[in-house]
Amino acid sequence: MNTNANYDVVIIGSGPAGSLCGIECRKKGLSVLCIEKDEFPRFHIGESLTGNAGQIITDLGLYDKMEEAEFPNKLGVNVIGSLSKNEFFIPILAKTWQVRRSSFDKMLKEKALEHGVEYQTGMVTDVLRDGEKVVGATYKTAAGSQNVNSKVLVDASGQTTFLSRKGVAGKRKVEFFSQQIASFAHFENVERDLPPFSTNTTILYSKQYHWSWIIPISPTTDSLGVVIPKDLYYKECNSPEAAIEWGMNNISPELKRRFKNAEQVEASQSMADFSYRIEPFVGDGWLCIGDSHRFLDPIFSYGVSFGMKEGIRSAEAIATSIQTGDWKTPFYAFRDWSNKGQQIAADLIRYFWIYPIFFGYQMQNPDLRDEVIRLLGGCCFDCEGWKAPSIFSNAIKEYDRKQMET
Ligand code: FAD
Repeated sequence: MNTNANYDVVIIGSGPAGSLCGIECRKKGLSVLCIEKDEFPRFHIGESLTGNAGQIITDLGLYDKMEEAEFPNKLGVNVIGSLSKNEFFIPILAKTWQVRRSSFDKMLKEKALEHGVEYQTGMVTDVLRDGEKVVGATYKTAAGSQNVNSKVLVDASGQTTFLSRKGVAGKRKVEFFSQQIASFAHFENVERDLPPFSTNTTILYSKQYHWSWIIPISPTTDSLGVVIPKDLYYKECNSPEAAIEWGMNNISPELKRRFKNAEQVEASQSMADFSYRIEPFVGDGWLCIGDSHRFLDPIFSYGVSFGMKEGIRSAEAIATSIQTGDWKTPFYAFRDWSNKGQQIAADLIRYFWIYPIFFGYQMQNPDLRDEVIRLLGGCCFDCEGWKAPSIFSNAIKEYDRKQMET
């Protein structure tokens, strides 16, 4: 006799994607178990939120909690180019924040608990199958291994890409932005701009794929990231500390100026191979959301908002599949919606890196400015009929065609 616990939905991972999927599934009356390997709060990178993410957070009813947590207000992004002068400012149209992910992810998890998502601390180690269909998962806790049955198993395991590693989803393929390594740490006493601009994101770049972020994540703490090509990292740095030092000396004098009196308050870390995509990422009894199937590049801070959006949109597909018994129609619709939005974001990021000066011009072009600002605010999934996405996409296609010819 099968004595496993039964849930409509089992979610692997309690990051932004998993929490939002859980909340939305509960709103649709589904039973949900979320299995998370780490005790919260835990460190996570991904600290600057788009306007779209801010709107989702406000819609969740978390506005007051975000203010109580003293997460800095993000009014925009200041992009400083190779000559160390301000090239352009990207305003944010909706209220949003910079976050310390340990507290932010815990807040989302608590919201999911309020909605009736059940939680289990444990490491998911395997999937249960009935023929080709995925019907549950095995997870390990201090007490041993357990099985749980699901109608839909959701992979929200982030860069672990669990279902890909288990051979359920497709293999991880590197994306355009894969040949970079990011090194990051938290600092106090960083020189900030004057209020109200003091809590904005600053992006500094020297040339293609040589860039840095400064994100104020609390009233006194700033996150610093240095992103450089892999070959440069291994040739000249080989540790997160050395990469940060390299960035201070080479990316922009402005970076050095701002960190002159700064003290590091967290160990530095490096991350490689963070840019990839996985196909297929939906199937009979399972689907992947957020970083578990795709991550592009951190430059425009899309990760958390895309994860949350996919969490919300996937719940619609899950509920329909459970109600109708047909997984293909709703899951393929989710897949196509995701691929379209991610492609628009990928084209925008590639355009920025290939034509940074033109990108600045497009920001000023009265015909496109509003759309570009909204795309940078995370609207890549909600821009049906806009002009800007096809302008960027055509420019990238032309660039790729010319590259093929040479
Ligand atoms: P995650 O947040 O990674 O959550 C996955 C969860 O699954 C984790 O809690 C993990 O412990 C759990 N898990 C994994 N495997 C298992 C298992 N087997 N069993 C149980 N639990 C498991 N995004 C932004 O929005 N703004 C930024 O400024 C930004 N900066 C970034 C900088 C860098 C260098 C990188 C690489 C990314 C950055 N991102 C940023 C992206 C952002 O970090 C991610 O896109 C976002 O966290 C994805 O959310 P998620 O819920 O899909 O996955």
